[in-house]
Amino acid sequence: MSMLQAITFDLDDTLWDNHGVMARTEEGHYRWLLETLENWLAARQAAPLGLNYAEGLADYLARRQQLVTEVPERRGDFTWLRLRALEAQLEASGLARSTALMWAAAAMNEFHRLRVQVSPHPEVAPLLSTLRQRYRLAAITNGNIHLQRQPLAEYFPVAIAAGELLAPKPDPKPFLTALERLGVAPEQALHVGDSWEEDVLPAQRLGMHAVWVSESGDQALPERVERIAHVRELAELLAWLEKRR
Ligand SMILES: [Mg+2]
Repeated sequence: MSMLQAITFDLDDTLWDNHGVMARTEEGHYRWLLETLENWLAARQAAPLGLNYAEGLADYLARRQQLVTEVPERRGDFTWLRLRALEAQLEASGLARSTALMWAAAAMNEFHRLRVQVSPHPEVAPLLSTLRQRYRLAAITNGNIHLQRQPLAEYFPVAIAAGELLAPKPDPKPFLTALERLGVAPEQALHVGDSWEEDVLPAQRLGMHAVWVSESGDQALPERVERIAHVRELAELLAWLEKRR
């Protein structure tokens, strides 16, 4: 392999397990919104909204799906989708528009507070600490995690939120943006991620090296692609790749 100078990382399900965090965040910020907002209305002797948690949550999801079909270019901008869906739901429930906007924004603030409560695999911080002495590091995520607030932010001088570029992976744009900010050519960079479709294939097609983090997978690996079962195996793989070149 040619001189490797930079490593880009997917975050969700690569550096931490995301499933539980998303479920807690999805339910938690909506429950917070209903409870806090009803208390706020009660304190003003205003009529309660009467939004039912389960039905409201389902309606919130349906509104996001509807927005994706109406505004497809925003399909990867999950923060925008959530904000617009909440604003519309609150307004439809009887709040004045300005009040709906305020409470939707407050709910998204709570969403981001919960969303960054991820627990990176314990091996990750020491790994990144070692790697950054030798490589330039970047994060490329489709998730709407607040990149500056996530616990590994200090290791990633370059951090790309692909949804906000309106070009979620597998679009090549977030990869090209990262490479440009890192100042390296594709063949000098390696991308690490758990998704075959969103991480491995687009990186490989651009000429980057790629490491697929997957416990299983029988498919033949294209050139410049390796598979590891867990990110903790990355350092060993890199040592092997560097020796082989
Ligand atoms: Mg991922």
